[in-house]
Amino acid sequence: MLPVVAIVGRPNVGKSTLFNRLLGQRKAIVEDVPGVTRDRNYARVDRFDRPFMLIDTGGFEPASEDRLLTQMREQSQLAIEEADIILLVFDGREGLTPSDEEVAAMLRRVEKPVLFLVNKIDGDSQELALGEFYSLGLDDLLPISSAHGRGVGELIDRLHQLMPEEVPPRESEQETRLAVIGRPNVGKSSLINRMLGVERVVANPTAGTTRDSVDTPFVYNRKNYLMIDTAGIRRKGKVSQKLEKFSVVQALKAMERAHIVLVVIDAGEGVTDQDLTVAGYAEEKGRAVLLVVNKWDLVEKDHTTMGQYIKDLRGKFKFLPDAPVVFISALTGQRVSKIMTEVEKLSEEFNRKLSTSAINKVLQEATEAHPPSIFRGKRLKFFYATQTGVRPPTITIFVNRSDGVHFSYQRYLANQFRRALRLTGSPLRIRYQDRR
Ligand code: GDP
Ligand code: GDP
Repeated sequence: MLPVVAIVGRPNVGKSTLFNRLLGQRKAIVEDVPGVTRDRNYARVDRFDRPFMLIDTGGFEPASEDRLLTQMREQSQLAIEEADIILLVFDGREGLTPSDEEVAAMLRRVEKPVLFLVNKIDGDSQELALGEFYSLGLDDLLPISSAHGRGVGELIDRLHQLMPEEVPPRESEQETRLAVIGRPNVGKSSLINRMLGVERVVANPTAGTTRDSVDTPFVYNRKNYLMIDTAGIRRKGKVSQKLEKFSVVQALKAMERAHIVLVVIDAGEGVTDQDLTVAGYAEEKGRAVLLVVNKWDLVEKDHTTMGQYIKDLRGKFKFLPDAPVVFISALTGQRVSKIMTEVEKLSEEFNRKLSTSAINKVLQEATEAHPPSIFRGKRLKFFYATQTGVRPPTITIFVNRSDGVHFSYQRYLANQFRRALRLTGSPLRIRYQDRR
């Protein structure tokens, strides 16, 4: 299970600088997903020994004109509810303020590990500023410079020490794991009840590897599935309920473990930014996505409604052009059975393998039919390709200049491989590797 680390602190103390510093170069990749909200305030960090989920709670500040202290209390409350480790950041240049003291006092009382960071200690001469922070009597006080990286190594070491024991995954490789995600009230619980009711539960739900979800194994057409249910767990605290954006964290955690993600949308309310962000994360992680439009019973329709709806969806989920769409009513049960039909198909595609010779035939035919352009005066040369993974199918292509494969050519090759692998809804990953 991915530990969650939350950054808390006043505006301008350097929270987002620290966030970016810990994220390192991954940020560029994270932000490169089209259609995904740019201002990411959470991300998976996996450059260090142990991966973790990092949240900048500054990004979750309520939009209202709330006073600073209220805002900080809410931020901290969020961190207390959702995080495994909390980082409270102070500004070493500005010094200690009353709101810092108040939040420090609040966080000292929590059972979770808290690290107190004095930021903007860029060099030895700033160390003097630490004095007044030491007077707080906090155990874990670290001087850092988010902007320059000073002290960040120690911070990482400290984080690793504080992370909960690694629990070996209980899940087996034989099962397909499903996560049902979506905003509150879209009908996730109703849908899961329907699905597990119809698909017959073979074991009682047991608490999963985490308190954030309930895992329910079930069998469908003699295949094993695991339902990762975050919906059944009612929001613990008032604050996360209020800042519904924060429920994204639950979804991200579930998606980490899932193979297939059911993104549930309320037919009446339509697609929200949050739906796009969460689906963008699924896409980025190479999960197969099924778009589930729920509450279809409430929509007044004629023979053009569904077609129009799909068109709208495609326009919004541009980064998931192949994701299948189902229209259901979890309330009446209408077409709910269609979900497992699609899931089976996706799961099968997600695990699909093609022989190396077949793959190279596709590559050869594709490059002959439509030769790549010249890159820096030299013709691109594709040597060979091989499937290097499943879940999702992943193909590695060896080429003389991997940086010279134009985006449109990559898309062309991807389409050829998709066709050859007969992929309709599953993602496909293609990696280009240099060979000279
Ligand atoms: P946030 O509002 O807490 O997210 O703060 P930001 O990360 O946006 O930083 C606020 C300001 O402090 C920016 O101008 C940063 O460049 C600056 N800053 C952040 N970290 C450091 C640091 O370690 N040293 C110095 N000198 N400036 C910093
Ligand atoms: P969750 O918060 O996403 O788990 O949503 P729930 O499953 O708790 O559903 C929220 C509300 O929407 C409940 O009152 C459900 O009865 C209702 N609901 C769920 N699915 C449907 C549906 O397909 N049609 C209609 N009309 N109502 C639904």
